[in-house]
Amino acid sequence: MNNNAARTAPFLVFTDLDGSLIEHETYSMEPAKPALAELARRGVTPIFASSKTAIEIMAIQHANGISAPFICENGGAMYDSSGNVLTAFGLPRKSWLKNVHHLRGRMSVEFNGFSDWPVEKIAELTGLSLGDAEKAQNRGFTEPMLWHDTQTNFQLFQKELQKLSLITQEGGRFISIQGQFDKGKGMRWWQARYSEPRPFLVALGDSPNDLSLLNAADVAVVIKSDKSDQLDSLGPATVIHTNIPGPAGWNEGIKQFLNLLDSQHLLIS
Ligand SMILES: [Mg+2]
Repeated sequence: MNNNAARTAPFLVFTDLDGSLIEHETYSMEPAKPALAELARRGVTPIFASSKTAIEIMAIQHANGISAPFICENGGAMYDSSGNVLTAFGLPRKSWLKNVHHLRGRMSVEFNGFSDWPVEKIAELTGLSLGDAEKAQNRGFTEPMLWHDTQTNFQLFQKELQKLSLITQEGGRFISIQGQFDKGKGMRWWQARYSEPRPFLVALGDSPNDLSLLNAADVAVVIKSDKSDQLDSLGPATVIHTNIPGPAGWNEGIKQFLNLLDSQHLLIS
């Protein structure tokens, strides 16, 4: 991590990846590079908060020359910039996955997830290469799935999951079955490591699984997506909605935030 620089900056940036900092289909972050460069100039390296696995996130950081801590699997765990687990927020997937499969059989509901599919199917559904799909399949805290049953049965299923201390979170592509954690808790945990006055929090996201992150931030940037209309971010004093999706929207959102900051028009909750 760019630890010293981040500690001198007055704010931290936490961001979703798919559909936010990186393009949903191509996985490129190229259009966000001007805003990333401007943040770097100010000593701020974005902290990724993604539904992706730790190994996937580290590969993306490496490919883009970024070294920073990160939150993986929707808040399942937080890692430092060297790839060591700092803390796990969720029960390991292997401790509950069998119970979820039993529940599926008992309720006769239809869904399929990463543990059901061969790696080729995950590659097909995500557009990832086989190698990258393998990195996605090797999960510690979450089971992404596609629901193939009725909405009524989904609600019944969620109630039964609650009895197992599990919840669902909706991302851009999949619904994740997981323990009772979210991206926002991970962000607040990281912020609490700083001494007072703590840096304020800027969060960017495009899907319902980002709502905890957006709500727990001081400045929320809602990146335009098919689902961004559902994101009613309450709490932050400043909520920026971008007009463009993906990394180009990310670039726009960070620029708007920095303009407000520099012109002293930024409201902080
Ligand atoms: Mg997303």
